[in-house]
Amino acid sequence: MKLSLVLPIYNEEENIVQLLKEIKEAMLSLSLEYEVIAINDGSKDKSLAVLKEAATEDKRIKIISFKRNFGQTAALSAGFDHATGEAVIPLDADLQNDPKDISSLLDKLSEGYDIVSGWRKNRRDKLVSRKIPSWIANYIISKTTDVHLHDYGCTMKAYRREALQEIKLYGEMHRFIPAIAVWHGAKITEIAVNHRERGFGKTKYGISRTFRVVLDLLTVKFLTKYLTRPMHFFGGVGIFSFVLGTVSFIAALYLRFIGYATLIETPLPLIGVFFCLMGAQLVLMGLLAEMIMRNYFESQGKPTYMIKEKINF
Ligand code: UDP
Ligand code: MG
Repeated sequence: MKLSLVLPIYNEEENIVQLLKEIKEAMLSLSLEYEVIAINDGSKDKSLAVLKEAATEDKRIKIISFKRNFGQTAALSAGFDHATGEAVIPLDADLQNDPKDISSLLDKLSEGYDIVSGWRKNRRDKLVSRKIPSWIANYIISKTTDVHLHDYGCTMKAYRREALQEIKLYGEMHRFIPAIAVWHGAKITEIAVNHRERGFGKTKYGISRTFRVVLDLLTVKFLTKYLTRPMHFFGGVGIFSFVLGTVSFIAALYLRFIGYATLIETPLPLIGVFFCLMGAQLVLMGLLAEMIMRNYFESQGKPTYMIKEKINF
């Protein structure tokens, strides 16, 4: 079996040499064929030069250099697209993940799982700005995706490459790979991994990431559940809105006829108009979404199902 290690790198010049050294040591005891795919995500420091130097000494180190900063998710995506190993393990390039965990992740993977997720049980990050938002985000993701993990955000996870193949990543979505893969039929588990203080440099993210993650979660949930039937989503909300509007109208008429209030003395007719209009809009948007969806699948000859195997064809 061959292993591909994927390193997203954005301004990590001081960490790279140490990280590559630790990887080499960890791999020495494993006697596995491996490659290191380092993605330079538009670093503004000497990261690329440091990487190039390492790559001339060790041909197992491969570099992909982006034209500008595209973000960690894009960097991981590029790494996954170029990986040639049967197993793929991404890790943070800031020394927070520990290459010593590679062997336990691979052991677990060989028990027949498609994804082994790392869980930073003893996480070395700031409490208020990182750990608490992350606990909340993990709770929400776990509840909404029905894929139960303690730590979606941990970069260090082991994947069977096939489990990654169908998955296209946008925005900040690398943390949803496990959820998307499970929806595609993958088998998943998690193990605790070591987590350390950042080596050098500083984190690239702040608290605003939590909100982006929650928004991405909405997209992921919508795309996986309603991609082939958007009308059920838009239409559902639309009809609900329409019913609310109608109830509001009826209430207004009722109050008028029992002589309690005339139609201009309550806001009910206005509320009725508002919800009915919104309902109609949503249903029409559902129709548009259905057209877009058909265009997406049919123009590219994409099937709306996923086959695991075919027999006697
Ligand atoms: N990273 C990247 N592109 C970016 C931001 C981050 O490739 O735009 C890399 C970064 O170099 C590191 C990993 O993603 O290897 C995780 O970033 P960071 O350590 O800043 O995140 P944190 O651990 O604080 O969540
Ligand atoms: Mg980090």
